[in-house]
Amino acid sequence: TGDHLSPEETDIERALRPLSFDDFAGQDQVLENLRVFTEAANLRTEALDHTLFHGPPGLGKTTLAHILANELGVNIKVTSGPVLDKPGDLAGLLTNLEERDVLFIDEIHRLSPVVEEYLYSAMEDYKIDIMIESGPNARTVQINLSPFTLVGATTRSGLLTAPMRARFGISSRLQYYTTELLADIVQRSAQILKVPITMEAAIEIAGRSRGTPRIANALLRRVRDFAQIKGNGKIDIEISRFGLKALNVDAFGLDEMDNKILATIIDKFKGGPVGITTLATAVSESAETIEEVYEPFLIQQGFILRTPRGREVTELAYKHLGRTPGGGQSN
Ligand code: ADP
Repeated sequence: TGDHLSPEETDIERALRPLSFDDFAGQDQVLENLRVFTEAANLRTEALDHTLFHGPPGLGKTTLAHILANELGVNIKVTSGPVLDKPGDLAGLLTNLEERDVLFIDEIHRLSPVVEEYLYSAMEDYKIDIMIESGPNARTVQINLSPFTLVGATTRSGLLTAPMRARFGISSRLQYYTTELLADIVQRSAQILKVPITMEAAIEIAGRSRGTPRIANALLRRVRDFAQIKGNGKIDIEISRFGLKALNVDAFGLDEMDNKILATIIDKFKGGPVGITTLATAVSESAETIEEVYEPFLIQQGFILRTPRGREVTELAYKHLGRTPGGGQSN
């Protein structure tokens, strides 16, 4: 899911993408299982079961889809939910798959219902109906597909229909990364970009990356610019702090929407509890996106609590925004 990136950024992202299980940092449990499933599929020369990855953006879903194809020794075709307009688009892709190939569908929760329905028989029986000719001679014929693996990625597993979800034999949720793991990823990326970096600087960048490898890599590239223009080309702790400050990255790596959510709960709802739909309206974001993209990180970092009556901010959130519980700025 590299949808907000320019073509140039996408190229760099591709270059930084790990290609094998061994290069991929973290997500140990997920990886351990995938290793077993791919090895077994390879041993039996069968297609791997259809696999679903879910979790917030930038945690490695697309990367894992490519790794699966590499580890299976097959080709990968890449598409996304919103791009597949008509069943015909999908039929073209499916009929071109060779045995055991991977078809990766990003944002699979955004498939139109007709396309989704069309996918069911492809996934289940490796068969699809296609329409041939038109007018009075129009008829459908059923054709067999090569056994293939559908890898789906979604940030919004809650929006996936039950029949769709049921057709994935493997389903893995990706977790936010620890600072330690992100520091390893930053060092690996720095090596690929051929820029020297100290351990301390890698940790500094990692700690402000919202638990997300994509953000870590993006901050690394920006700090590298500062190192080359304002420094001596090497990334050390001083130039990292300087760059991150200039980039307005806050100490916890919270982004604008994270901070807006916290500020809104404090300012408009007296710190909470507030229901998710009310909060969503107040920050002009969908309830699902808040629940699946923003809230998990804010909860994990201890800024928000989920209570039966709704969301509440913690003392840490007040401190972070420079407020005091009960109102007012604290400095
Ligand atoms: P998603 O599909 O979940 O949005 P991507 O797979 O596109 O995320 O990952 C975004 C970027 O983060 C990629 O450039 C990739 O290099 C990097 N990345 C993600 N996970 C890892 C990881 N575990 N180790 C190293 N780099 C990673």
